[in-house]
Amino acid sequence: MGAIYYGTRTFSKHVGYFGPVQECENCHRAYKKAFVKFSSWFHIDYLPLVPTKTLYFKACPVCGRGFELRKQDAKAEMQNGGNDGTQVLTPHAKHILANKPKGLLSTDSSFELWLKDEVSGEDILIASEITKEDIKNFKKERGWKKVPMENVE
Ligand SMILES: [Zn+2]
Repeated sequence: MGAIYYGTRTFSKHVGYFGPVQECENCHRAYKKAFVKFSSWFHIDYLPLVPTKTLYFKACPVCGRGFELRKQDAKAEMQNGGNDGTQVLTPHAKHILANKPKGLLSTDSSFELWLKDEVSGEDILIASEITKEDIKNFKKERGWKKVPMENVE
């Protein structure tokens, strides 16, 4: 038998867009707010066993400005709207210097993160000059399942 690993892990999940369309004070984009659920689980050998904490984050889907909500408050707000197809935003990333020889840059910060508005067709730049690690962090923060990557020559 090897070592047994235990502790807590946090999972994030994008639940949907709820409430009225509102202009964001920070980026001035008008969208329904994104709700992201964060749940912590006690695990043994990375097998989640007992939920220890759940909270929600309500934020602008473009710039991410927002705040934490308690479970019951989030549930109440999520009665309004939801995934009715009126707001569909798909994240995707671009690797600008994908063909540059490796080793030229110590940290490759030539990645960009975009959000495609599937209803209007607009492609919105979320962040540029970021690293692959930054994209991972965005993914976790926003609760996205996947962020397809495109290499740009
Ligand atoms: Zn915003």
